[in-house]
Amino acid sequence: MGSRKVSKIVGGAVQYDGAGVKLVRVIGKADVHDFDPFLMLDAFDSQDPADYVKGFPWHPHRGIETVTYLIHGDIEHGDSLGNQGSILDGCCQWMTAGRGIIHQEMPQAVDRILGAQLWINLPRKDKMTEPAYRDITDDMIPEVTDGKSTVRIISGRYREKVGPVQGDYVKTLYLDVRIDPEGTWHMSVDPEATLFCYLVSGSGRFDASDSVIPSHRAVLLVDGDEVTIVAGKEGLRFLFISGRPLREPIAWGGPIVMNTREELHQAFKDLDEGNFIR
Ligand code: MN
Repeated sequence: MGSRKVSKIVGGAVQYDGAGVKLVRVIGKADVHDFDPFLMLDAFDSQDPADYVKGFPWHPHRGIETVTYLIHGDIEHGDSLGNQGSILDGCCQWMTAGRGIIHQEMPQAVDRILGAQLWINLPRKDKMTEPAYRDITDDMIPEVTDGKSTVRIISGRYREKVGPVQGDYVKTLYLDVRIDPEGTWHMSVDPEATLFCYLVSGSGRFDASDSVIPSHRAVLLVDGDEVTIVAGKEGLRFLFISGRPLREPIAWGGPIVMNTREELHQAFKDLDEGNFIR
């Protein structure tokens, strides 16, 4: 089939969410068709705690998974399942909202917060599944180094190593990839899967064209069973995210993503009536 090509580059827009957290919504509602099964990617990169310390106080989710990965930072969290703790440097929180969870996410002041929250849609048959929460600590994430690149496996399998989760509902390959300056990274990919990369730092070329893509962009790569990525002069770090599309209708209301308007109305009715958590 050959190498995937860049079909879309999105830089997103600065947004304020939660109690006033400044973030960049790289992927959002307008991109859902192209990025299915991924709904949203919020990127955090700030050296000013005023941007984020107001945090995301108690709020509900239903019908999705939220995956928060921090390269640097400290996010305190708590949820209606009784979980409580902190996401720290190199750690990931994989939260399955399923039929309903209420949680809070409160970033603490640090030198630099650097990371992202990904929303993965749940298949129709699993929207109302049991809520679950996985605390993936830094030491649980395997690393593969081959001289020019270092790859951390947050989810899925890469070469001989397997990450701490695979994606119970949407099989997800989630890698944190670093390539040395002007190094080349090559990988075989599932031709059926949606695949995008979010550039955390540096720059790189993502297909045979000569265009160099700068950091803080998400790059959608289509059509093909392999990728070849070449880092720029300063090297490249990116999040590699891939999974097969669901191709199901989406009814999206803030933190709740269902398939129909009726299900969405039911969710807000459940919230009003105190039946959301069951
Ligand atoms: Mn949340």
